[in-house]
Amino acid sequence: MPKDTLVKIDNALFEVTGFLGELAADFTPLKDSKYRECYEQISTLQIELVKSVRTLQSKLEHHNATFESKISNKCKFHVSWVGYCNQDTNNNDFCEEHSPLKCSGCGAKATKDCEATLGPMTCGKPLCNNCNHKNH
Ligand SMILES: [Zn+2]
Ligand SMILES: [Zn+2]
Ligand SMILES: [Zn+2]
Repeated sequence: MPKDTLVKIDNALFEVTGFLGELAADFTPLKDSKYRECYEQISTLQIELVKSVRTLQSKLEHHNATFESKISNKCKFHVSWVGYCNQDTNNNDFCEEHSPLKCSGCGAKATKDCEATLGPMTCGKPLCNNCNHKNH
């Protein structure tokens, strides 16, 4: 269920609670007649509903956090003009293709390829975050 839906339900319940409160204030018999029990039951149900919606929301947030950490196990190698490689990794930051690459400037772990253009071509040599086309 999309989180938006839960937020909408939460807001709707909040409005209903406010409406019931107004109703109870305007309609005095609701407070001390045979209606009172019904009114209280509705209030109790609402509180339970609000609690459940909030619990569901926090569970959903937790789920999304787990989901995002799975996404972050994708290869972070930045391919010039394309973006992140995003291939699955074995709990590494880089995929099989990109993890052995060393910066052609300083020999450190490469995180991207050089996006400098050489005529119609891109340079494409592996680079770390500190090096650029000028020093490799
Ligand atoms: Zn990769
Ligand atoms: Zn380097
Ligand atoms: Zn280059």
